[in-house]
Amino acid sequence: MDHFTLKDGELHAEDVPLARISKDVGTPVYVYSRATFARHARVFRDALSGLRRPPHLAFAVKANPNLAVLRLLANEGYGADVVSGGELARALSAGMAAKDIVFSGVGKTDAELVQGLDAGIGQFNIESGEEGRELAALAASRGQVARCALRVNPDVDAGTHDKISTGRADNKFGVPIGHAPALFAELSRLPGIELRGLAVHIGSQLSDLTPLETAFAKLGDMLARLRSEGHTITHMDLGGGLGVPYRRGEHFPEPAEYGAMVARITADWDVTLMFEPGRVIAGNAGVLLTKVIRVKRGLNHPFVIVDAAMNDLARPALYGAWHDFDAVAPSGERMTANIVGPICETGDTFALDRETDALVSGDLAVFRTAGAYGATMASSYNSRGFVAEVMVDGSEFAVVADRILPGAIADAERVPDFLG
Ligand SMILES: *Cc1c(COP(=O)(O)O)cnc(C)c1O
Repeated sequence: MDHFTLKDGELHAEDVPLARISKDVGTPVYVYSRATFARHARVFRDALSGLRRPPHLAFAVKANPNLAVLRLLANEGYGADVVSGGELARALSAGMAAKDIVFSGVGKTDAELVQGLDAGIGQFNIESGEEGRELAALAASRGQVARCALRVNPDVDAGTHDKISTGRADNKFGVPIGHAPALFAELSRLPGIELRGLAVHIGSQLSDLTPLETAFAKLGDMLARLRSEGHTITHMDLGGGLGVPYRRGEHFPEPAEYGAMVARITADWDVTLMFEPGRVIAGNAGVLLTKVIRVKRGLNHPFVIVDAAMNDLARPALYGAWHDFDAVAPSGERMTANIVGPICETGDTFALDRETDALVSGDLAVFRTAGAYGATMASSYNSRGFVAEVMVDGSEFAVVADRILPGAIADAERVPDFLG
């Protein structure tokens, strides 16, 4: 459920008409609903209320790193799962406690490892023996001890898009689960790290709980084996990945079903469970508001050319992803159209042959379910600048990211003297 609904025939975010945001801030603009974010954060937490111990919830910052979003989630008791030094800095400046931050990612640099050590973050999810040895050496040389989990690759096909599948044996993430006993034996002897658990994250936008259950069961077997070999395991990180409906009528597992499955599989684990939800919290808490530039006649269907483009919302170009598209003030008439952006690339297509509200030049429309992996993936391709972001709270709204104009980006560039 979200808070982007028609009131008196006009689409609102909570109690704010989207037309008002367009008038004040311009388009394209991402619009987030505070109430929806908070609701999703609570639903996910409630779904895990059947666990033996309170879980550690770390929002996957890459899904939506806006500082206002992170502050909102910090207020809801969430920590952060970060995958770069930049995300770590954001989580801290949004007010998340260092101890509630988990650092994931296959390519953490020495500088990023040191940044995490200096901040005193809660856990490093190390993704290789090489990284574990480097982190141990860095921590030991600074007289520190880094709390770590070893991310394993369970070789489970998440059944999602190839580009967001992370748990198959040939993906770059984690270590093959069979390597865990030898690595635990080696790494847990090193000064500088406290290896306290395992982590897994098999992919994103999962539409079925079965692959997760398979992965968690494998993790449970490995937990038992590591304990039998004398290791102390106190934390197990189950990652994120729960999918959300992008298309009206699509069915996805509810957080409560996920929570029940987790409670069943982990009943005798006797650890603190950690979670890294991203999309399930943020996805339906945002829309991308756009204006129709013009409607161009096509061979079969008209092209509705909107002022948002693949640089603002990359998912359709990147993954062929579907976003529901609705007029802000639907007339009741319908049309079949191709929805495209202005960028000079055929990939800049949001939808082909789409049945949608009838639209004409100047009309406003939204791409729904744009709160996750939306603004965070924006680029300035075609020198279009970076899209603005707004958060709504009841009848108020605030700009939470300024539009960055093309000129400001060009200001960071230089023509060297040797070019005259
Ligand atoms: C991207 C990512 C997540 C979040 O995935 P969602 O599908 O958005 O829940 C969690 N953990 C790690 C390690 C990730 O890379």
